[in-house]
Amino acid sequence: MFEDDTHKIAALAHTWREKPALHQPRYEDEAELAAVMQRLAKMPPLVFAGECDRLRESIAAAQRGEAFVLMGGDCAESFEQITADRIRAKVRTLLQMSVILTYGASVPVVKIGRMAGQYSKPRSQATETIGDTTLPSYLGDSINGHEFTAAARRHDPHRLEEAYLYSVATLNLMRAFTRGGFADLRSVHDWNRGFIANPAYVRYEKTASEIDRAMRFVTAAGVDGAQLAETQLYSSHEGLVLPFEEIMMRIDSRTHEPYLTSAHFLWIGERTRDVNGAHVEMFSHARNPIGVKLGPTTTPDTALALIDKLNPEGEPGRLTFITRMGAGRVEEALPPLVEAVQRDGRPVTWVSDPMHGNTIKASNGIKTRRLSDIMAEIRGFFAVHEALGSHPGGIHVELTGDDVTEVLGGSEEIFEETLTERYESLVDPRLNHQQSLELAYQLAEMLRD
Ligand code: PEP
Ligand code: MN
Repeated sequence: MFEDDTHKIAALAHTWREKPALHQPRYEDEAELAAVMQRLAKMPPLVFAGECDRLRESIAAAQRGEAFVLMGGDCAESFEQITADRIRAKVRTLLQMSVILTYGASVPVVKIGRMAGQYSKPRSQATETIGDTTLPSYLGDSINGHEFTAAARRHDPHRLEEAYLYSVATLNLMRAFTRGGFADLRSVHDWNRGFIANPAYVRYEKTASEIDRAMRFVTAAGVDGAQLAETQLYSSHEGLVLPFEEIMMRIDSRTHEPYLTSAHFLWIGERTRDVNGAHVEMFSHARNPIGVKLGPTTTPDTALALIDKLNPEGEPGRLTFITRMGAGRVEEALPPLVEAVQRDGRPVTWVSDPMHGNTIKASNGIKTRRLSDIMAEIRGFFAVHEALGSHPGGIHVELTGDDVTEVLGGSEEIFEETLTERYESLVDPRLNHQQSLELAYQLAEMLRD
């Protein structure tokens, strides 16, 4: 599928290598990095170009209101938590949400795991101080370790190789689960029935029983079992570490065009989306569907400059703007961007990240978010698109399939005092399994109305 066309990539690489690259690891030993890169260069791609093309078409459908994107997973994956149980729980959560949203939206849900490569983080502080010790900040498992020791916090290029291998293992299980019968719509529906059986969630019973009736209709009508048994789950991560993404950039032998083969979908973060920076430059050369995070200070001119650079021809599905404004700001910050894009005419798929504009510190100093703020931002996002006649294309959320206590609220309420009971995230707070399903039911109600 992919040609050994390293010279073609090398010819492109100067375009981004000469531009400023923010939030990059700093390696002490160039030779060590070069040896790692040599080995990674020989490793096979994680995804195939044809899959990326199919995803691009599905994201284009979401832009037209004919599909809905559900992207979710950890803020930062960690090597230690790559276990069958945790991957299964996360995939299960995404599948459960997807069934609920399919019913609510009455269109196919495009499922993308923020998984199998979400191993690097831009951080607001380069260093962290505890007591009288100051060390480099934790930048994600592909760069350094979370443990607060000088040895762990060293930027170690071998971690890029580990990240590749953990991504392979994760993606393999994601593919096995979604193709091997685990994702059968009937069993996903049974899990949702189990969730609703808990009296805490009685408020969703009406929607749940409607879905139940729809499911019974589908099976009674004799819809082919094979169609219900399999699904497609794509992978995504923030494309942050440029040497890694560059080495995973490969030329597709069918089209002779470059793809970032570390994931199906990659996005550029709020902190690295400078139009004149190296990240935007590199992504402009890849054929994958790509995303850019847009925070509340984004101007219409910046949005248009990003389109000029990343989707000059206006190819449908190519560019997704993932807006993360904050519940209190979305209704004033989003409309000028949507209007500018509408005037421009080139298509953009709009996805809401209702997490990153709503991060707060609890009174005990713990980083958290409120489920009510998360829902309020999604509601604001929908209201803006409805008012302007454009389509809310999907959501991007930080979640886990486990019963963690990181986000405040929910019917089985998590309070400030209970945050510490099971706070496991290494970076940002994630919705737990139940909160994720609640979000899906509330969103389904919103989509249906
Ligand atoms: C993230 O998605 O974890 C993140 C850092 O987001 P943003 O770039 O929007 O701040
Ligand atoms: Mn995050």
